[in-house]
Amino acid sequence: MERYIRFEAPEGEGWGIFKDGKIVGLSGNPAVQSEETNRYYEPSGVRLLAPVQPSKIICIGLNYKEHVKESQSADKAPEEPLLFSKPPSAVLGPGGRIVRPPMAERVDYEGELGVVIGRQCKNVAEIESEDYIFGFTCVNDVTARDLQRKDGQWTRAKGFDTFCPVGPWVTGRLNYEDLLIETYLNGELKQSARTSMMIFRIPRLVSFISKVMTLYPGDLICTGTPSGINPMQAGDRVEIRIEGIGSLVNDVI
Ligand code: MG
Repeated sequence: MERYIRFEAPEGEGWGIFKDGKIVGLSGNPAVQSEETNRYYEPSGVRLLAPVQPSKIICIGLNYKEHVKESQSADKAPEEPLLFSKPPSAVLGPGGRIVRPPMAERVDYEGELGVVIGRQCKNVAEIESEDYIFGFTCVNDVTARDLQRKDGQWTRAKGFDTFCPVGPWVTGRLNYEDLLIETYLNGELKQSARTSMMIFRIPRLVSFISKVMTLYPGDLICTGTPSGINPMQAGDRVEIRIEGIGSLVNDVI
């Protein structure tokens, strides 16, 4: 499986792909347009950055039945996908620190499968929507739970800087229908579900969103969190692990 990254090296920042134990430099964001260069890097010599630079981040609320039950946001599952967004300024790379803002009392993790768009799309049918997917990644839809309840809509609660950890890389297309998705807090398993448990499946989500707004290459869709949400405290380490993709680890301050 391809693994696309963005990284910081002594020479500067760049995009790359893992090949034969090395990183091959790419000319640009692979979800948008890029070619392999003749620059090579040792993985031990670079620091991974967030592997996406989306024009927008569209998230799905309440997309797992067990999470609907534990949530106070609704008493039943939505009849169509519930959309909200996070600003691109919230993106944080693997290993980056999630900052608990002073105005929030309860800051939760939400482990989610991320879908990266690879072709501009508008009004696509479900059956063709997979053609518009570039790849997949792990996302933590960090949420200030008290502010989400207080505000009634979610822009502030979901939008703080560092509230969208993404990575550690973007894979190529894979069979996403039934992947194990887990969240660990300080090494303890807190969320465990399969992507087959989503209420609205990925082709439906891509098609539905594209009937609302144009999706551009590089845009990120966060497909919703399973049950098991809990708060994070300063000093905690949170890990989102998805079968076939990898592990996204961040510390909380
Ligand atoms: Mg979420």
